[in-house]
Amino acid sequence: MYNIPANFIDEQKVWEVLEANKKADFIKVREVLSKAREMKGLNMNDVAVLTGISDPEMLSELFNSANEVKEAIYGKRLVLFAPLYISNMCSNECLYCAFRVTNKKIERNALTQEHIAREVNVLINQGHKRILMVAGESYPNQGFQYILDSIKTIYSVKTEHGEIRRVNVNIAPLDTDEFKLLKTEGIGTYQIFQETYHRETYQKVHLKGKKRDYNWRVWALHRAMEAGIDDVGIGILFGLFDYRFEILSMIQHIAELGDKFGVGPHTISVPRLEPATGSKLATHPPFPVSDIDFKKIVAILRLAVPYTGIIMSTRETAQMRRETFALGVSQISAGSRTNPGGYEEKTDDDPSGQFSLGDHRPLDEVIRDVVSMGHIPSFCTACYRLGRTGHDFMDLAKTGDIKLHCAPNALSSFKEYLKNYAKPETVKIGDELIKKSITEMTGLAKQRAEKLIQRVNNERDDVYC
Ligand code: SAM
Ligand code: SF4
Repeated sequence: MYNIPANFIDEQKVWEVLEANKKADFIKVREVLSKAREMKGLNMNDVAVLTGISDPEMLSELFNSANEVKEAIYGKRLVLFAPLYISNMCSNECLYCAFRVTNKKIERNALTQEHIAREVNVLINQGHKRILMVAGESYPNQGFQYILDSIKTIYSVKTEHGEIRRVNVNIAPLDTDEFKLLKTEGIGTYQIFQETYHRETYQKVHLKGKKRDYNWRVWALHRAMEAGIDDVGIGILFGLFDYRFEILSMIQHIAELGDKFGVGPHTISVPRLEPATGSKLATHPPFPVSDIDFKKIVAILRLAVPYTGIIMSTRETAQMRRETFALGVSQISAGSRTNPGGYEEKTDDDPSGQFSLGDHRPLDEVIRDVVSMGHIPSFCTACYRLGRTGHDFMDLAKTGDIKLHCAPNALSSFKEYLKNYAKPETVKIGDELIKKSITEMTGLAKQRAEKLIQRVNNERDDVYC
């Protein structure tokens, strides 16, 4: 199903909108920013106006508006997760990726279920509660069952203090029946990046395999949602084509999902091309995105789709990650490895990884940094486990009621981390932050936070509301 042209990505319209708004003046920019601060989202024309900003004063107004919206909706919370690469086998030829089929420079490896369990054990013992399971598009003999078994394995690992409570997945597009099976395994978010919405570029960088089919990929989230997966994640691989074109096209994709299913994506990822073993394209991106443009992209997305989570991976440096927290990032990975087996091996930037990492710090160090900036690390998985997904989540988010859950849950899940996994210096500054945060809370949120923290202190884990 859905192997038909995806007319909802209308390239001509994107160019027309960009052209029509390219000379927007300060008055127009301010008008769009003031609309954005109402937190109802932005349309294509508005987004085109913002992509045209280059004046430093306007840029800083854009960044301030994004920060205002981020704080109003997400407060100081930052959700943490770790990617788990289970296999680097792949039948596609994506010119930017080390896993592409003809690349002889990496060792191929699909982890056995026992090996996956050992990797999960390492992640749990670091304090992780959320995993993003990642794989190339070619599975061992069991075929797609390998993916289903791997999810089961991840959920099955229990240690003295913990377990993985939410498995999100980033794997190649499936058909609707396969998506139904994925849902049955209890996944959180299904995530897939279009890489580039520009059809001509798409054909140039995807040379072999199923991934060459633009339409199969761009309809994937429709199939996932039809199969009952409420939370889907979307993304662009920045550096392949003009970022202005990409963002506007993504706005079309988001609008289409909203029209068809009444709810848009749960998360947006913003990977920038990083060097990858055996890939010239990854080292020399055809449309490199500068640091300032990258920050602009995050800020624009925060304003355009205020209730959608923005994910920042360890592709970026610690400094860039810090700077984008204030602009709208709400979820980050930490302590990541992108080579299958990398957690147990403790290899740092193994050439068999999918791409080079920009942030190599272990989880506890990232947490200390996040805390020192006043952000609250959250390991919360409550919404997904209580069925607050899709529409239900967005309804709570839009009325602001979600804060009555998120803020207390962030604190209790962080306290659980401090109690079971953190180094003494992290415990010290973490406890101070929790105390300060509760002092600043009011009403029901405060009552809930106090109660939950007390329960964690009384040797209870996994408490949430
Ligand atoms: N194989 C599946 C696919 O391609 O959709 C899923 C996993 S793939 C390993 C995850 C994502 O990694 C890709 O969608 C792509 O955006 C990203 N990626 C690949 N090569 C990259 C590179 N050199 N730098 C940054 N991100 C890269
Ligand atoms: Fe395979 Fe995904 Fe890498 Fe493409 S991006 S080569 S599909 S793992």
